[in-house]
Amino acid sequence: MAGVDAAGEFETIRKLFAPLAHPDHAWGLRDDVAVMPTRPGYDLVLTKDAIVEGVHFLPDDPLDTVAQKLLRVNLSDLAAKGCEPFGYLLACHWSPRCGWPEREAFAEGLAADQKEFGIHLLGGDTVLTPGPASFSATMMGWAPKTGSVTRGGAKPGHGVYVTGTIGDGYLGLKAAQGHLKLEEERLEALAEHYRRPVPRLAYGQAVQGYATAIMDVSDGLIADLAHIADASGVAASVQLELLPKSAAAMAWFETRIDPEAALEQLATGGDDYELLFTAHPADEGNLKREADRLLLRLTRVGTVEAGRGVSATHLGKPVDIRKPGWTHD
Ligand code: ADP
Ligand code: MG
Repeated sequence: MAGVDAAGEFETIRKLFAPLAHPDHAWGLRDDVAVMPTRPGYDLVLTKDAIVEGVHFLPDDPLDTVAQKLLRVNLSDLAAKGCEPFGYLLACHWSPRCGWPEREAFAEGLAADQKEFGIHLLGGDTVLTPGPASFSATMMGWAPKTGSVTRGGAKPGHGVYVTGTIGDGYLGLKAAQGHLKLEEERLEALAEHYRRPVPRLAYGQAVQGYATAIMDVSDGLIADLAHIADASGVAASVQLELLPKSAAAMAWFETRIDPEAALEQLATGGDDYELLFTAHPADEGNLKREADRLLLRLTRVGTVEAGRGVSATHLGKPVDIRKPGWTHD
């Protein structure tokens, strides 16, 4: 877009973004468009997520981690579909706080994750906004033509599984806001998870042959499991005492007087970016083996049942979940 921030816009594109452009398909960001290649035997898979200051990241979060969070929340969607990531289109809506050093930091964050995840920048748009900064990416990846697992194949009797740990994103937000009292090292581990979640790309590919329904956990375990249950036309139950917790989340949990309420917070807080899926219990050995190979924790947290909706129990006692996850009203 021209006119708003002409000098800054072109300098930003030339100096900061052009070096990140795909070497073969983005023409050094000197043309109007990029052209996507095709890949025989694969489908092009697309996803888009936006992040907004004050909603998805904090006004004082360093911009390199904001850039990384943007890429990672998008990559997490591709992970659920077993995709190999390829590249992305980027929209930057810079706010007045985004001067040159902030833009440089943002580009450094992009560069670090392009290397980490094997992706390139393909194009985008750069504008100024008087409001809070926001960024969006359209992430593209390849999935084998045999097709990705959808959210719709869960059947009664299947297990409900989750990778990694649950609740660190939620606690990480509180830690970054200074609302938690824990050892410094714990607070840092939690804030790191909030700022730089880890998309489970390799495991996402590994489980495509076993999972019957799959998605990534962004809004909260319970809310996202409800999406799988809905799409599959089944019910699901979660045993809250089985929720996998990190060492830092355990330390927080031990300070709580009401364990049931604490587990409910972890199961509904969101920002986990772990994979949530259902699978036939006979495949559990294979699923565990694949997870072990990737040094990834895998936990069965519940069961698919006949009916509708998601229910939760704590040590056998039903728990009434009031707010299943994060919602944007
Ligand atoms: P136009 O106004 O003609 O659409 P732009 O000035 O928006 O052109 O963009 C010029 C080039 O820079 C295009 O190749 C576009 O994809 C690229 N570009 C602009 N902003 C970004 C961005 N945030 N990230 C990556 N590429 C960008
Ligand atoms: Mg443009």
